Amino acid sequence: MFSFASQKFSQKISWFCRSRLPLIFLLVCIIAGGIFYKLHAENKFMIVIIDGARYSETFGDSSHTYIPEMWNLSNQGAYLTHFYNDSMTYTSRAIPALWCGSWTGVRDTVYNGHSTQYTLKPSIFEYFRQQKGMPEEECFYVLKYIPNLWLPSFHANYGPPYWPRFHSQGISDEDVANQAQYVLSNYYPHFILIYLADVDGAGHSGNWSDYVGAIQTADSIVGHLWNVVQSDPFYQNSTYLFVTNDHGRHDDQHGGFSGHGDGCEGCRHIMFLALGPEIKQNYVSHQYHRIPDMAVTASDLLGINPEYATGQVMTEMIQSNPIEEPDSKHPLATFSLAQNYPNPFNPSTNVEFEIRKAEWVRLAVYDNAGRKVAMLVNEKLSPGSYKVQWEGRDDAGREVSSGVYYYQITAGAFSAVKKCVLLK
Ligand SMILES: [Zn+2]
Ligand SMILES: [Zn+2]
Repeated sequence: MFSFASQKFSQKISWFCRSRLPLIFLLVCIIAGGIFYKLHAENKFMIVIIDGARYSETFGDSSHTYIPEMWNLSNQGAYLTHFYNDSMTYTSRAIPALWCGSWTGVRDTVYNGHSTQYTLKPSIFEYFRQQKGMPEEECFYVLKYIPNLWLPSFHANYGPPYWPRFHSQGISDEDVANQAQYVLSNYYPHFILIYLADVDGAGHSGNWSDYVGAIQTADSIVGHLWNVVQSDPFYQNSTYLFVTNDHGRHDDQHGGFSGHGDGCEGCRHIMFLALGPEIKQNYVSHQYHRIPDMAVTASDLLGINPEYATGQVMTEMIQSNPIEEPDSKHPLATFSLAQNYPNPFNPSTNVEFEIRKAEWVRLAVYDNAGRKVAMLVNEKLSPGSYKVQWEGRDDAGREVSSGVYYYQITAGAFSAVKKCVLLK
């Protein structure tokens, strides 16, 4: 009796194996797993660029009068106090740099009958679509109606087959917000970049209340879109939000808020807010970062390789960063920066530093007003001791004048500043 039952059982097993059932079962598992993965596992990305808001009216304003929504959101994420446009403080060059993770040259072209420009380096849209095999409707660029859109690259390995879907409609930031909400709830893209232009326009008008009013509108749009995302099961808890600017506006010593375009602190200093699954909560980073770091950090979180970008990942605000591990809890033990010698100096001085793990290292000199004077090191270094000489010249090779200078080292999560004096 017992052996009979056992034999019957083994017959059942062999029938199961001979039939197509295992294959069908496997296929069902793969498809179900794929749907589950698409719904829950893959991260989505929303980037909002607010054109031309000065840091002193956003996160640099301690009352946060004009950005109540974003200030509130920063509890759930991270913001930077030292995010900078480090090159051209106008939109036509800074937006491509935000996309490309690098300051990029542009070329004139004619597209759909309109004169415009395209970037020489591939954009994050192209990296994302090419490397993830994403169709166009997974990658949107939402902005108001602009006939001559700036274009991503024609790069041989990327280019037009991987451009985003341009959704260019309406005449105001409110229109763009409505269009973004439409796109989110109809196409469910994995990547959406939303460009809000009105703050810059209002700033150029020279009317203060229009300018700060436009910031308040942009702020409420960010808060609203984040609510839209977090109330949709497709996006909820699996979506990143980055909010930043292309440039600021002149500080009061350099012409005031109605203009921009030079290297003053007001034009350079911009906001950066980040939220999402891997972003530390209620975190403030005081590390120096610059426009090209935005797309490179987004790429890192999306698991794509921005191979032609020059920016660096803002590792300190990402939860999985090794700084959280016990052995690097005290970054001072892992890196060190020595006092320069001679000091005071003329005409040159030496700076020594030591790193104990391979890191991208930046060593830059700033003047007393916080302007960057010279970049002495900007590369990935292996562990060891290094000595760098500063000849008392700026990056263009011009001798700088006597005075107090600061040299800052940034290596991963470590950052240190020391003072030196050039005495001629
Ligand atoms: Zn402008
Ligand atoms: Zn300026």
